[in-house]
Amino acid sequence: MATLRFSALEKIFDRQPNWQDPPSNNISDYFGQNVFNMDTMKEFLSKEAYNSILDSMQKGKKIDRKIADSVATSMKAWAMSKGVTHYTHWFQPLTGRTAEKHDSFMEPVAGGKAIESFGGGQLVQQEPDASSFPNGGIRNTFEARGYTAWDPTSPAFIIGKTLCIPTVFVSYTGEALDYKTPLLKSNVAVEKAALDVMKFFDKNVSRVIPTLGWEQEYFLVDAALYNTRPDLVMTGRTLFGHSSSRGQQLDDHYFGSIPDRVMAFMQDFENEAHLLGIPVTTRHNEVAPNQFEMAPMYEEVNIAVDHNQLVMDILEKVAVKHHFRVLLHEKPFQGMNGSGKHNNWSLATDTGINLLSPGVNPKTNLRFLTFFVNTIAAVQKYDNLLRATIASAGNDHRLGANEAPPAIISIFIGSQLSAILDEIEKKVHHGKLLPDEKTDLKLRIGKIPDIMLDNTDRNRTSSFAFTGNKFEFRAVGSHSNCASAMVSLNTIMAEQLISFKADVDKLIKAGDKKDDAIFKTLKKNIVASKGIRFEGDGYSDDWVIEAEKRGLANVKSTPYALDFMMDDSVKKLFASHNVFSEVELEARYEIAQEHYKMKVQIESRCLQDMVLNQIIPSAIDYQHRLVSNVTKMKEIFGTGFKKHAEPQMKIIEEISTRIESLQSMAEEMRVARKSANKIDDVALQSKAYCDNVFKFFDEIRYNVDKLEVIIDNELWPIPKYREMLFTR
Ligand code: ADP
Ligand code: MG
Repeated sequence: MATLRFSALEKIFDRQPNWQDPPSNNISDYFGQNVFNMDTMKEFLSKEAYNSILDSMQKGKKIDRKIADSVATSMKAWAMSKGVTHYTHWFQPLTGRTAEKHDSFMEPVAGGKAIESFGGGQLVQQEPDASSFPNGGIRNTFEARGYTAWDPTSPAFIIGKTLCIPTVFVSYTGEALDYKTPLLKSNVAVEKAALDVMKFFDKNVSRVIPTLGWEQEYFLVDAALYNTRPDLVMTGRTLFGHSSSRGQQLDDHYFGSIPDRVMAFMQDFENEAHLLGIPVTTRHNEVAPNQFEMAPMYEEVNIAVDHNQLVMDILEKVAVKHHFRVLLHEKPFQGMNGSGKHNNWSLATDTGINLLSPGVNPKTNLRFLTFFVNTIAAVQKYDNLLRATIASAGNDHRLGANEAPPAIISIFIGSQLSAILDEIEKKVHHGKLLPDEKTDLKLRIGKIPDIMLDNTDRNRTSSFAFTGNKFEFRAVGSHSNCASAMVSLNTIMAEQLISFKADVDKLIKAGDKKDDAIFKTLKKNIVASKGIRFEGDGYSDDWVIEAEKRGLANVKSTPYALDFMMDDSVKKLFASHNVFSEVELEARYEIAQEHYKMKVQIESRCLQDMVLNQIIPSAIDYQHRLVSNVTKMKEIFGTGFKKHAEPQMKIIEEISTRIESLQSMAEEMRVARKSANKIDDVALQSKAYCDNVFKFFDEIRYNVDKLEVIIDNELWPIPKYREMLFTR
C-alpha cells in the first residue's frame, strides 16, 4: 500500500499558518539592521576609513592595508554587538549558488586563554580549500589554491551568528572562478564606454552604473509531499505526473488572494530580507497554481546580484520553517507555466539620470534614443551570446515551451517607439540635414514621454522587451545567477557604445554637426538591427518560421547553445574588454557543459530508479489484483466469463505492454548513459547526454503517466499533480 503518500497528504490537513511578527510595525525601523551599511559604517568607522570605503564604492579606489585593519576591527565590534561569533567570506562559485566557510573570531592565546580577533588580513583575503569548486581545468586540483578577496562595494551582512563578507573568488593564477569577478569587470567596461558617449550630452556625469531589478518566480510544495517524490528531492522537478483535470486554464490563481499559510511564509521571508537590506516590495500569485513571484526595488547590479543570491537562500530556509519546499527549477511541473527570473536592466548616472528613460525635451530624448538604439544594436549583434548565457538543463524545458519566451532572442519595443525608429530611418539621409528636417525630427522625438504614457501594449511573449524605462530580459532561468546575463549585456553594450562613439566622431571630423552625426549613426544602427525587432506573438509558430527567415538562431538544447560562447567574435569581445580571458571563457564553457551533463545524468538515474522500484511494482500490484479477479470470474461464469472480464483483461494487457516498454527503455537508456560516460571530451559528452540519453525521458514519462490514470489511486506510490498543486 502506498501509505507514504497518504500519510504525507494527511499531514497537510493539520498544517497551520506559522505567523511570525516582524521586528517592529514599521519596516523602516529595522530595514538593513543586519547590514554593515553606510550609516553603520559612519557610526563604527574612523573618518579616514569611512572616506576610504566611500571612495572605493563610488570611484573604485583601492583600500590600503592599514585602513583594512581598522575596518576589520570596526566590523568585528559591530558584529559582536549583535551576538556574532564567526565570520565567513561569502562568494559565488560556478556551482551556481553561494559558498561560505565559517571561521571563529576566537583566537587561542598564551596561558590557555582566548581573544576575539579579526584583522585586515582576514577581511581582505582568504584561501579556502578550493579544490572542490568547479574550475574548468584552470586550477589543477592538487594545486588547490584559490583566493577570496573582499569586495568593499557590497556591504557585509549578518546571517544567524555569522558575519558574511562578500568576496570575489579567483584562482592562484588570477583567473576568475566565480560570477562576481567578471560582473565587476563588465561594469567597468560599460561605464567607461557610456561615459565616453555621455560627453556628447552631459559633461557633468562622472559615473554610469548598470542597474538591475530582478523578479523571482518560484513554486511552493508542502514538505511532506516533496519528500515523498524522489524526483523533486533529487532533481528539483517532477519527472512524471499526469496533468490534473484542472490546470491553470481558469487563471484564477494569478493575482488571486494568497492563502494564509503562504502569506505567513511570505511575511516571514520578507522580514528576513528586510533585515538584510533587501528592498523587497512586491509579492503576488503567479499564473500556475502554487506559483508565486517576488520582486525588490532595483539596485546597482552588483548589489542586486548579491541580493538575489541571498534571496534564493532565504526563500529555501524560511520555507522549511513553514513546512514548505521552494522550487526554483525552471519547469517543475509539465504542462504548467515555468519559472523565470526577469532581469530588468538599465544604466544610471551619478547625477540621477536613467539613460533608458525618455527625457522631457528633444535634447534629452536624443540621449535616450542613443542608449535605446545602441542596446538594440548590441543585442542584434550578440543575440547568440545572450542565448548561451541563459542556457541550462532546467531552462531548456521552459524556453520554447508554449508559455515561455522562445529560445529565439528578439526585442519588443512597442508600436510607438517602432514608429519613431522608422521615422528616423526614413528622414535621416546621408547628406547634411536641413534645418526644417532637423526641427521636424526633434519635434517628433520630443513627444516620446507622452507616447510612452499610453504605451500599454506590453508584449509578454518577448524574450527581451523594452518596458518604459528599462529593458527586461525575460528568458533568464529562475535558479540561475543573474550575473551571467548581466555580464554579457554589459559587455556587448560596452562594445556597441565604443563603436557608436567612433562612428559619430568620424562624421564630426568629416564636418558634420554633432546632432547630425548622432542622427546618422542612429539611423545606421536602426537599419542594421531591424532583424532582431519583433512586435508579434513570440509564442506563435509563425514566429519560428519568420525568425528562421531572418536568420535568427533557435537553438533549443543547452549543449549546442553553449557553443556560441566559443565563437571567435565572443572570445575577442570578452578579451578586448578585459572581462574574460580566452582561458577563463573556455573554462566557463566546460563547466557549463559538465553541469548540463550531470543534471541529465542525475535525472536519468532517478527516472530509472523510480520506474524500476516504484512505478513497475505498483503496476504489478494492481495487475495482480485484476488477474486474480479475472481468474475468479472464470470460476463463476465458466466459459462465458470473457464477456464480463473483457474490460479488466484490457487493463491487464495495457499494464503488461507498458511495463515491457518501460523496462526496455530504462535498460536502453542505461546503456546510452554508459556509452556517454566513456566520452572524454566534456562538450561531446554533454551532447551525447542530450541526444542519446535525454531522448528517452518523454517516452518513459508518457508510459508512466498512462499507468497513473489506470492504476488504483490507493496504490499509486508518489503524490499526484493535483495533490501537490491544489491541496492546501
Ligand atoms: P512588471 O514587469 O512585473 O510589470 P515593473 O514594471 O513594476 O514590474 O518592474 C519590474 C522590475 O523592474 C522591478 O523590480 C523594478 O525595480 C525594476 N526596475 C524599474 N526601473 C528600473 C531601472 N531603471 N533599472 C533596472 N530595473 C528597474
Ligand atoms: Mg516582469
